[in-house]
Amino acid sequence: MAHRVVVIGSGFGGLFAAKKLKRADVEVTLISRVSHHLFQPLLYQVATGILSQGEIAPATREILKRQRNADVLLGEVTAIDLTNKTVTSQVGVHRKVTEYDTLIVAAGASTGYFGNDQFEPYAPGLKSIDDALELRARIFGAFEMAELQDKPEDAAPWLTFVVVGAGPTGVELAGQIAELSRRTLRKDFRSIDPTQARVILLEGGDGVLSTFGPTQSTKARQALEKMGIDVRCNAMVQTVDATGVEVKYKDGSSEYLSSNCVVWAAGVQASPLGAQLAAQSDAEVDRGGRVKVNPDLTLPGHPEVFVIGDMMALDNLPGVAQVAMQGAKHSARTIRARLEDKPEPGAFDYFDKGSMATISRFRAVANVGKLQLRGFLAWMAWLFIHILYLVGFQQKVSTLGHWMVAFLGRARAERTFTLEQARGSLTNEREARPPG
Ligand SMILES: Cc1cc2nc3c(=O)[nH]c(=O)nc-3n(C[C@H](O)[C@H](O)[C@H](O)COP(=O)(O)OP(=O)(O)OC[C@H]3O[C@@H](n4cnc5c(N)ncnc54)[C@H](O)[C@@H]3O)c2cc1C
Repeated sequence: MAHRVVVIGSGFGGLFAAKKLKRADVEVTLISRVSHHLFQPLLYQVATGILSQGEIAPATREILKRQRNADVLLGEVTAIDLTNKTVTSQVGVHRKVTEYDTLIVAAGASTGYFGNDQFEPYAPGLKSIDDALELRARIFGAFEMAELQDKPEDAAPWLTFVVVGAGPTGVELAGQIAELSRRTLRKDFRSIDPTQARVILLEGGDGVLSTFGPTQSTKARQALEKMGIDVRCNAMVQTVDATGVEVKYKDGSSEYLSSNCVVWAAGVQASPLGAQLAAQSDAEVDRGGRVKVNPDLTLPGHPEVFVIGDMMALDNLPGVAQVAMQGAKHSARTIRARLEDKPEPGAFDYFDKGSMATISRFRAVANVGKLQLRGFLAWMAWLFIHILYLVGFQQKVSTLGHWMVAFLGRARAERTFTLEQARGSLTNEREARPPG
């Protein structure tokens, strides 16, 4: 019987691990709770009506259809048994136990609220297709609700968008909401003026995009402010409820921002499967729930288990796609070396290809080695890289088409939303806080 490799997750880590095992003498079973591979870096474009979900989330089964040694199973992994080497997954009442010889765990991370999970219904994050469609409904729906109000003061909270967290996702979302209101929706309404929408970007630290260094951070802030975005740093969110956000600033002052559309882009929490692995092995998890792995990405005490991507903690590597993809490649190489009785590659050596974030149409920041790019050039680099890494030819072509519509024109092709997707956020009764 061929060596059985079970891969958990169809994100960057899981999918690339399965693909890298194409020529190995193994049977790969990829188990994921979703049927697609999600290109998370473009989720914010689904949320703001530029792209459709199909463009960034092709079916995993289709991607792997020509890989004869790979099988795809839909299911949420609920238990990993390191002693009996089994993975239990579930879809509704349907439960399945899959045996493995080698296990690659790449279940990623979800939105983290730093112990304040009660914020979640009022400030959804952006990690999945469901999240993106909910945010789309909340964002476009907020303009619709504003149009229905008789008094300007009742429309104001609907026209106030608060984005919490000024990392790449927060900056990209704030930039797109601003562009949406100032360009796309400019002439679409009769009672309200969408260009007057307030977009507030809250950041707990000193600056936006802080991981890009002080110069890029300052320039990015200036660019955001030029677009009319109200950037507030050293701002710690105290509470989020149905009508807004309470913020405390570093100088001790605090303020309540009335908003009916709050987005959380401030933190992530690794999959709870990490804690399960730690409980059964010598591994520890860090504060973000990430598993502290051996230098070769294996679980301490379990050389047959690899933990990769956003779930692993090693040398302070960031939770980015390249870490997951290179970790996938490294695990696959190790598995092949073992099966072929060759020396193992040993410690994982991450090659940093750089990082980038868009601010708006035609504007981005990119750090590649010592090179710091900004503006149009960085945006072009961003465009090229994203098309390159987007999975699927069809997806690439239709994404390019939608980008032309949105960036060269003013329109957005994917504005469809339903009230159901807004999870009650548009229709629930709201009792506004009295001013003061
Ligand atoms: C909005 C956003 C923007 C980003 N932008 C960038 C960017 O510009 N550049 C960059 O490099 N990185 C970016 N990232 C980070 C990057 O997407 C992640 O680092 C990368 O996806 C990690 O890969 P992964 O395989 O570890 O996890 P993921 O890609 O998250 O995949 C996890 C997989 O596991 C599945 N899963 C989870 N739990 C279970 C379970 N219990 N059972 C079965 N399946 C399960 C999930 O459905 C998913 O398929 C961004 C992330 C987000 C959310």
